[in-house]
Amino acid sequence: MKQPFFYIANWKMNSSFEQSLTFCMHNQPALLQLSAYPDTTLVIAPSFPTLYAIAQLFENSALHVSAQNCSEYTHGAYTGQVDSTSLAQVGCTYCIIGHSETRAYCGETDAQIAKKVNCLLEQNITPIICIGETKADYEQGKTFALLEQQLLPIRKVLTSEALTAHTNNRCLIAYEPIWAIGTGITLLTDYLTKVFSWLQVYCAKHMPNTNITLLYGGSIDENNAGTLKAIDGINGFLIGGASLDFQKLQKIIVCTY
Ligand code: PEP
Repeated sequence: MKQPFFYIANWKMNSSFEQSLTFCMHNQPALLQLSAYPDTTLVIAPSFPTLYAIAQLFENSALHVSAQNCSEYTHGAYTGQVDSTSLAQVGCTYCIIGHSETRAYCGETDAQIAKKVNCLLEQNITPIICIGETKADYEQGKTFALLEQQLLPIRKVLTSEALTAHTNNRCLIAYEPIWAIGTGITLLTDYLTKVFSWLQVYCAKHMPNTNITLLYGGSIDENNAGTLKAIDGINGFLIGGASLDFQKLQKIIVCTY
């Protein structure tokens, strides 16, 4: 079976409850059409309060809904946190974890991210695990050491014993160089080819029993999407800014289809 190409729209905290719902209601027929393209998976990641309403709007369709974070704990006295059980109950089938903004502003660590992977898989929610280096790391040639450091606790969670306990063994790993997020910088094809080739080898060697799909994220727009999709190993996009504009999102999907 052909692997689908993923388009994950990460709306961050850019859209309010009302704006998110208006976007979805206004563009509902077109979103349904895009999500029904063969070999295409379209996922919208709005903020927590909007998840249930959007999941209801697209219930029984091919469009999926993702959270932007979840707790590393299953339940208990963790004020302000959201558990994976509730995410599944409101209709989430994906969840972004380890985004560089969550790492930077909420202090999310690699160890916590690994625990979240387990909580999500337990609920049959597909984790979208973000990894990536800073510009300084890149300039000092530390990219692969950093990716390895970020992936190490995750690969320990994704042992075959842990996986057999879950019905879902699919994980998306999004390589997002921090210096390309929201900056308009498009990385060179040669560099990305090298990174994705490294990631493919790493995942096959260390997580052979996990169904992993690699995504790219960082200033994707309707102009660079075609070139990025052609890079070997990239099987999906995590799209921030451009996904807030329906015409741009549509162009990215249509121009790469
Ligand atoms: C992101 O935040 O995951 C992202 C890729 O954002 P942008 O597309 O705006 O760079």
